[in-house]
Amino acid sequence: MSPLRRHPVTLIPGDGVGPEVALATKRILDAAGARVDVAFDWEEAAAGASVFLKGDSSGVPQETRASIERTRVALKGPLETPVGFGEKSANVTLRKLFETYANIRPVRELPGIPTRYKGEGIDMVVVRENVEDLYAGIEHLQTHDVAQALKLITRKGSEKIIRFAYELALREGRKKVTTASKANILKFTEGMFKRIGEELAPEYAPIEANHLIIDNVAHQMVKDPAQFDVIVATNLHGDIISDLASGLVGGLGFASSANYGDGVAIFEAVHGSAPKYAGKNVINPTALILSATMMLRHLGEHDLADDVEDAVLATLEAGKALPQDVVRQQGGDVEAATSTSGFADAVIESLGTRPTGVPSAASRPRVKAITPHKRWVDGEARLAEVGPARVVGLDYFMETLLSPAEAGTKLAALAGPRLELRMLSARGVVVWPKAAPAFDHPGFFRARYVARDPNDDLPDSELLALIERVAHLAPWGHLEKLRVWVDTEGFTRAQGE
Ligand code: NAD
Repeated sequence: MSPLRRHPVTLIPGDGVGPEVALATKRILDAAGARVDVAFDWEEAAAGASVFLKGDSSGVPQETRASIERTRVALKGPLETPVGFGEKSANVTLRKLFETYANIRPVRELPGIPTRYKGEGIDMVVVRENVEDLYAGIEHLQTHDVAQALKLITRKGSEKIIRFAYELALREGRKKVTTASKANILKFTEGMFKRIGEELAPEYAPIEANHLIIDNVAHQMVKDPAQFDVIVATNLHGDIISDLASGLVGGLGFASSANYGDGVAIFEAVHGSAPKYAGKNVINPTALILSATMMLRHLGEHDLADDVEDAVLATLEAGKALPQDVVRQQGGDVEAATSTSGFADAVIESLGTRPTGVPSAASRPRVKAITPHKRWVDGEARLAEVGPARVVGLDYFMETLLSPAEAGTKLAALAGPRLELRMLSARGVVVWPKAAPAFDHPGFFRARYVARDPNDDLPDSELLALIERVAHLAPWGHLEKLRVWVDTEGFTRAQGE
């Protein structure tokens, strides 16, 4: 008899329907583990609404953090963000605390689940960058009525997630990685993401690599979803298309996910706490059960993961235990649907059974050895690589009600001997010296000052003196240095510049 393998796991039941789906999943894992001599040491931990209500504004108490630091693995129910408690999401806090930069959402056609795409063979994974982009949550009102959010994309963050996507493709025996971006419009942020995808692709041959604009991904996903294998995207785009992808195969009741960091992994359903169903024992627990199979693979328990996944597939295929959301989709009598706990019982009964109409999970390729790849060059070494930047100007974002012509004339006169006013723009469109054909004054302009000598390197004192002069005319919202590296201009041109 093989020795008993034990796995410590932090279990966060969470809010709303969380405790019900967490209990169902835990029972299945314990039962499946017992058949093959594997046991879980569950460390139950709190997060979310109950924690906010106790006055902890982070939503994630110290004991929970300590447990995850110990176990390095968490299975998590949904967490609510109650309105009026500081608006911090405990989910985002967890992501940031443990730097779980990769959000993985596999989407596969399931047996017995009616969808428009039945039989097309949908089997894809959406890999979403999970800590950068607009989710940094850095927002400012530039005037009382002009809001701004900072979209932060780093080369390092992009490289990490794109490598993750390729390595996942290798590990799972997948054939293609699609980098999805909005590089056509956002040349620096999304453009960097696209370029890194292109730079890394040759390292991962023979995986086929392509790039699609994110809106086209949405279109193609609805038209012909089976063409996708692995899709990697920045945070917000990944968020949206992964929800779209889950909708193709049966919806939130089936959408599983994993959040991986360098040392910690957190597994959770995509859905939220569905408060109107809380405590009613009617919600579909499949999403969290399938998330738990990802956790089992992460723990190296591949046979066990296959057993649990196949038991779910066989249960759905048999059609005898259908949760309420499936019955509703089929137009059946929801009163006759299987309860959350009843579904868990049916899966436990099916342990050891393989599905017949869809491939067994056991037929999929296992983790292969992954070639170590060059990692991101950090710190001083990177600075030496890219060299120093020259400062060639300043973008001064200001609140003003002056007309473009009047503002342009006044601001040009303030430029001083080393600088000149290149243009004024409003929401990225030049309004001075050329007038925009149609102009709806937003009360907020950007003045772009540039060095008269293109080879100049402006000292801070020059810019500070300029800021002082201009501030008398119009207060600044924010300021951006215009910089140039040997190989890169660090600012985009305005429309019409
Ligand atoms: P939700 O996912 O909780 O529910 C929306 C609807 O989807 C439900 O009313 C239900 O009809 C359906 N649904 C969801 N899960 C289902 C399941 N397992 N089986 C069958 N049907 C299911 O989304 P919401 O109502 O927008 O959010 C409720 C709360 O959950 C909010 O506080 C939100 O912030 C939070 N939330 C948390 C997470 C997370 O912890 N990862 C994710 C999303 C939302």
